Amino acid sequence: VGEQLYLGMDFGTSGARYALIDKQGTIHAEGKREYLQHVDGKAIDRASSWKRTLFLLLEDVPVHLRPYIASISIDGTSATTMIVNSTTGDPLCRPFLYNESCPDALPIVKSIAPANHTVCSGSSTLCKLVSWWNSSDSNKESAMLLHQADWLLWLLHGKLGVSDYNNALKVGYDPEVDSYPHWLLSQPYSRVLPSVQAPGTSICSIKVDVGTQFGIQEDCIVCTGTTDSIAAFLAARATQPGKAVTSLGSTLAVKLLSTNRIEDARFGVYSHRLDDKWLVGGASNTGGAVLRQIFTDEQLVELSKQIDPMKPSLLNYYPLPAVGERFPMADPKMVPRLLPRPESDVEYLHGILESIARIEAKAYGLLKDLGATQVEEVFTAGGGAKNEKWTKMRQRVLGLPVSRAIQTEAAYGAALLALKGAQQRIH
Ligand code: ADP
Repeated sequence: VGEQLYLGMDFGTSGARYALIDKQGTIHAEGKREYLQHVDGKAIDRASSWKRTLFLLLEDVPVHLRPYIASISIDGTSATTMIVNSTTGDPLCRPFLYNESCPDALPIVKSIAPANHTVCSGSSTLCKLVSWWNSSDSNKESAMLLHQADWLLWLLHGKLGVSDYNNALKVGYDPEVDSYPHWLLSQPYSRVLPSVQAPGTSICSIKVDVGTQFGIQEDCIVCTGTTDSIAAFLAARATQPGKAVTSLGSTLAVKLLSTNRIEDARFGVYSHRLDDKWLVGGASNTGGAVLRQIFTDEQLVELSKQIDPMKPSLLNYYPLPAVGERFPMADPKMVPRLLPRPESDVEYLHGILESIARIEAKAYGLLKDLGATQVEEVFTAGGGAKNEKWTKMRQRVLGLPVSRAIQTEAAYGAALLALKGAQQRIH
């Protein structure tokens, strides 16, 4: 190789991946591991499983490439929260998972936070912290809150108490003024909060013992991470305002890079900071889940082949898997509209795909109405991205260039953060 490489790791919901890239973004190695729940017949807890997976992934990186690793970064699931001992880093309780809800803490959080703040959701990091604080008798004096990615990065760099402003958003960090707000700092538990850096900022060199164990050079730096969905956006390399990524998975999620910050609780729209720009996002309940209720994936392929994407469909549906929509129409009582069903399945699928494309267009239109930068180009991720007919239809309906994102793995996005951290150190 002879050139520097950058390592990104993604800790998702069921397993973890790594990607090793060079400064052009070419992948030199990648791999994945499922989380183990048992080791040698014995059950292990989640934190131990993540730690084990981290070191297994490092072992999976080909030995001859490891000396070239110049920097490392990690993303984790958003709002996955750990309370650890502030001296030893050992977990004081089991991790709170991203989707776990702490309804006991919600009224308390609502009473201290501004109305409609991101923390006002039972699964926010702050609700998890408050729930732990009010129910635990373990040593609060020596507690420290870390997100999943922070803790895994700490295992590599050893400086306890560092996070990034993407992970810290749901604990209440204000990325605009770059500090925790006063209403949070005045609470007794604010002293357990980590310090916050921009994602992809060099923290320090890799721990000597870890470097020695894996054959990684001692000047390899460890950089702050981000959340899994932001890392997946970064992977698409949509780096200019107006560039967007539509994710066509079970649901339809749009993410748009904007020069300004947009928040609207009615539509569940909020923004993450990315240096001097904002990543504006919203998620509709429409998407692939509805397609799967009607067609198999094989039927989707076969029927799509017969669609003429240049021909507009006059069928006007609102495909939803269940009652209720939030974005781009805020209506918890909205009923799915999938009738009338034409005799031809090709026509039916055409109508559904086109209707989803209209919802996508409405989504970007709403973001603009709320004040975001106007969308100029859309990259696509998720299971729907491979449908070329749909891509052409969406291009016609959106009136914009639409293409499949070349990279969509969050681990690749994390590797780009590692690259960013390494480049900033040189400049
Ligand atoms: P998830 O959100 O579950 O991770 P994926 O990104 O794996 O979803 O995408 C799965 C979705 O992609 C399914 O809901 C399926 O309906 C949709 N899908 C699969 N194949 C096609 C296709 N050829 N055209 C359109 N959609 C498809």
